[in-house]
Amino acid sequence: MPGKIWFVGAGPGDPDLITVKGRKLLEQAGAILYAGSLVDQAATLYAPQGCEIRDSKDMTLDEMTAWLLDQASRHAVVIRLQTGDPGLYGALIEMTRPLTAAKVEWAVVPGVSSAMASMAAAGETLTLPEVTQTVILTRVAGRTPMPAGEDLESLASHHCTLCIYLSITLLHEVQNALRAAGWQEDAPMLVVQKASWPGLEKIVRGTLADIKQKCQAEKIGSQAMIVASPTLGAADWDDLVRSKLYDPAFTHRFRKASGEIAHD
Ligand code: SAH
Repeated sequence: MPGKIWFVGAGPGDPDLITVKGRKLLEQAGAILYAGSLVDQAATLYAPQGCEIRDSKDMTLDEMTAWLLDQASRHAVVIRLQTGDPGLYGALIEMTRPLTAAKVEWAVVPGVSSAMASMAAAGETLTLPEVTQTVILTRVAGRTPMPAGEDLESLASHHCTLCIYLSITLLHEVQNALRAAGWQEDAPMLVVQKASWPGLEKIVRGTLADIKQKCQAEKIGSQAMIVASPTLGAADWDDLVRSKLYDPAFTHRFRKASGEIAHD
């Protein structure tokens, strides 16, 4: 009976940000194939003695599949450890299809994605009542082209929160797309490099006009999240709209309204 292959989200970097389920699986793992330098800490911290630990950075997808299948023939728990959440820019389906074809069981354990970790690091919120209630997780085209209708200019026309992955070297394209979509030069922007990494995290705040120069000055060229959002800086606004959820006049499932007005 072959073992089971788990695609585990390691979170954004801080090994404490893996889920309890992910950590328990690492503690039982016979073999771990980890992706990139950001998640090796979790693997080495939580893996048991004798666990086979391999970096996938020099492997092709076919080689990874072969490695995972081989390990699953010898171990009950085999882990593919990925940064953030495995379902975001993680080549998940390319990897699971051959496992299904080989009749090997697999499952996914979600992880804290770097968009959430970046906003948390900066003390910012992804949504804000009456400002934006929508978050778009996206990227600009690199070697992977963007499907029709998903160019950043179109997405930015919603003026909601945009979390832009894999694009820090294309920051000028991000700026151009936001300008073309009508964002103002003084629109706030945030770039976080190595969010959640103790001692390595860098937070850069700027505007559409100056974010690129600021990132250059900080020498940020990789492992960074770009956020453009009308919510940025809300902690310092003096005209904040109160969230309905905490409004004393708002009844919801867990709390009765103290005022006269009841909502559903
Ligand atoms: N699955 C991952 C994303 C992998 S794509 C997730 O859910 O977060 C790699 C991109 O993620 C990087 O180019 C960068 O934009 C972002 N990223 C990953 N880790 C990060 C971190 N700790 N801080 C900021 N951005 C990060």
